[in-house]
Amino acid sequence: MEYSIQQGIENLLDELKSYLFSQRELYGEDIYLDYNSQKAAKMSIEQKQKREQLIKFYYEIKDCQKCELAKNRTKLVFGSGNPDSKIMLIGEAPGFHEDREGKPFVGNAGQLLDKILKAIELSRDEVFITNVVKCRPPQNRDPLPEECDACNFILERQIEIIAPQYILILGRIAANVLLKMEESIANLRGSVYEIFGAKAVVTYHPAALLRNPNYKRSTWEDVQLFQKLYQ
Ligand code: URA
Repeated sequence: MEYSIQQGIENLLDELKSYLFSQRELYGEDIYLDYNSQKAAKMSIEQKQKREQLIKFYYEIKDCQKCELAKNRTKLVFGSGNPDSKIMLIGEAPGFHEDREGKPFVGNAGQLLDKILKAIELSRDEVFITNVVKCRPPQNRDPLPEECDACNFILERQIEIIAPQYILILGRIAANVLLKMEESIANLRGSVYEIFGAKAVVTYHPAALLRNPNYKRSTWEDVQLFQKLYQ
């Protein structure tokens, strides 16, 4: 009897240790992956592998020095959400708040993005969100083509690991990089593109929407088009 109580306590401690370890891996530094132990218990081997690959890749690149943006960053903003999602959202580059927190879309534009997601019945832990450039450009200027090029290997590897079926592209810079077309959002929106084996839709960046509420109607049409694809 005594033995079984001791055994029970040891098992509990083991479980607790592995839970705390996984929490540190997932949230301890600058990577924010959707996780809860009940979900984790039900995860397939493939789902666990994706998660582990993404975490491993994050630790490989978190001190990246491939471009000038590394010099002034507080944190490299890798991305956040569910690595097993079929949906990826890709924006431009971190801003002030994202650079501080290490998490994408946490400022005003991020709050608007949450509302947009809610309108199409999605939440942050059902998608994976990242940017084409992982470090904040000074004064939030547009990332330069050479910065986008230098950072591209991170985005491409993330897409390879996550293997999304649907990609929502947020804003002109991300659209120009991902679609390899120098066009305005007005010209790019309204179509479905095939990139990296996924269907992609382009819409206005939430920060542009905050500056120009006239884009709201078009954005609503774009996200509805996107919703029809994945539903
Ligand atoms: N704008 C972006 O494009 N990405 C962020 O993470 C924040 C603001």
